[in-house]
Amino acid sequence: MVLPYGRQSISDEDVEAAVTTLRSDWLTTGPEVAKFEAAIAARAGVPHAVSVTSGTAALHVAYAAADIQPGDEVVTTPLTFVATAAGAALHGAKIVFADVDPVTGNLDPAAAEAAVTDRTRVVAAVDYAGVPVDAPAFRDLASRKGVLFLEDAAHSIGSTLDGVPVGALADITTYSFFPTKNMTTAEGGAVVTANDELAARARAFKNHGLVRERELMRYPDEGPWHQEVHSFGLNYRLPDVLCAVGTSQLERLDQFVARRAAVKAAYDAAFAEIADVEVPFAPSNAAPAWHLYPLRVPAARRREIFESLREQGVGVQVNYIPAYWHPVFEDLGYKRGMCPVAEDYYAREISLPMFPGLTDGDVEFVIDSLRKAVTG
Ligand SMILES: *Cc1c(COP(=O)(O)O)cnc(C)c1O
Repeated sequence: MVLPYGRQSISDEDVEAAVTTLRSDWLTTGPEVAKFEAAIAARAGVPHAVSVTSGTAALHVAYAAADIQPGDEVVTTPLTFVATAAGAALHGAKIVFADVDPVTGNLDPAAAEAAVTDRTRVVAAVDYAGVPVDAPAFRDLASRKGVLFLEDAAHSIGSTLDGVPVGALADITTYSFFPTKNMTTAEGGAVVTANDELAARARAFKNHGLVRERELMRYPDEGPWHQEVHSFGLNYRLPDVLCAVGTSQLERLDQFVARRAAVKAAYDAAFAEIADVEVPFAPSNAAPAWHLYPLRVPAARRREIFESLREQGVGVQVNYIPAYWHPVFEDLGYKRGMCPVAEDYYAREISLPMFPGLTDGDVEFVIDSLRKAVTG
C-alpha cells in the first residue's frame, strides 16, 4: 500500500452530521449553511463567511466580488495551483506573475510591488504549504497602490500570523475544503472578509446574482413571487449536507493543526542530519497549519529521489509547477524563466506525506525511505 501525501480524517461525528442532515428537510440551502458560515467567520475572525462548492469557486467568487473586469490586472505567485490565476482569468483579467521569496516560497512583496501598474486591481498571494504570507507588507502595498489584497488560504485555515488568524489578515481570503486540505467537506470552500460590500457581492455571485430584498429591487411591486437578477452569477452553493460535515470538522481543526506541527517537527529533526536537503521554513511570528511538507533536494536529483520514494511506497507529490508553465499560459505568450526563484523552488521540491492521520510509525517509514532515497 502506498502512503498518500495527504488524506482526510473523518470521524463518526462527521458521518453522523452528514446522515442527520440527509434525513432532515433540507439537503441544500438550509440551517446547516448558516451554522457553518457563522463557525467559519468566527474562526477567521471576520464578520462574513460565504460558503461555496470548492476553493476554485471561492477564488472565482472573490474575484467577482473584487469586480474584476476584462483588461484588469491581477498580480499573483506562480508557485500555486492554477486556480489562483484561473479564477481571475475567467473574468477577463490579465495575470501578471511576480516571483517568490526563496526561503518560504511565498509571493515576495517587493516583486509584487514592482509588477503593479495602473491597471492592477488585485494582488493575490498564496500561503504556500500553510505559511502565512507577509500580510503587513501586502496590506501596506495594497493601501499605497489602491489595490485589493486577496489571500488564497487553501493551505492555511488554522494558521496564524502574530496571533491573528488567516482570514483576518487580507481584504478578502479564500479557503478550500478539498479532502487533502486542513479540513474537509469533500468538495467545498469559503470566502471570508470584513468588508460588507465585498461580502454582499460574493454572496450574490454564488447564487445567480439574485436579488430578493424588496428595497433593492427595480420592480418591487411585480408580485410576491418576484426576484431579480442585476448582474450575472453562478450556482456555487455548498449543500447543507456538506456544511454539516464542515461544522463537525471545524471542531477538530486545532487537533489537526497540532498533529501536522508534530509531524513537521519530527521530519525536521530527522532531516537535519541528511546533507543536501532543505526543510521548510516559517518565520517566528507565524504558527502555520502545515498543509504540505515541501522538502527541497538538489534539482539534479529530484526526479531520482521522487521515483525512489514512490517505489518504496511513499506517495510523494510536487507542488507546484510554475503556473505559467501550463500550456494555457504558454499559448498566451508567457515564457519560462520569468520567475527564476519560483522555478528553482519547483525544480527542487518534493512534498512528503503530511496529514493528521499519520502514525509515528508512518513518519518513521517516510524518514527511513527518504534516507535511503537520498543516501542510497
Ligand atoms: C486546492 C487549492 C485550490 C483549489 O481548491 P479546490 O477546493 O481544489 O477547488 C486553490 N488554490 C490553492 C493554492 C490550492 O492548493
